[in-house]
Amino acid sequence: MPDLDIIPLDERCDFCRRKPATKLCDYPVGERASPHMVIKYGKRITCDAKMCDDCATSLGYEMDFCPKCMEELKNLK
Ligand SMILES: [Zn+2]
Ligand SMILES: [Zn+2]
Repeated sequence: MPDLDIIPLDERCDFCRRKPATKLCDYPVGERASPHMVIKYGKRITCDAKMCDDCATSLGYEMDFCPKCMEELKNLK
């Protein structure tokens, strides 16, 4: 067996569920959040899905999107 068992579930990638998560999705969801959420966090809210290098799509500038948000981005076009 590979290291599957030694990686705690909450440290694994949300998408492949096999590799350790190394990135958080930077897709902004602030516009869809309620105003009081924005005030509560005091910053732009991002998707924050956990993902590994393989599942992340890098857009440069330290922006990484998860597969789910890439799908959403495609649907916007
Ligand atoms: Zn992954
Ligand atoms: Zn995302």
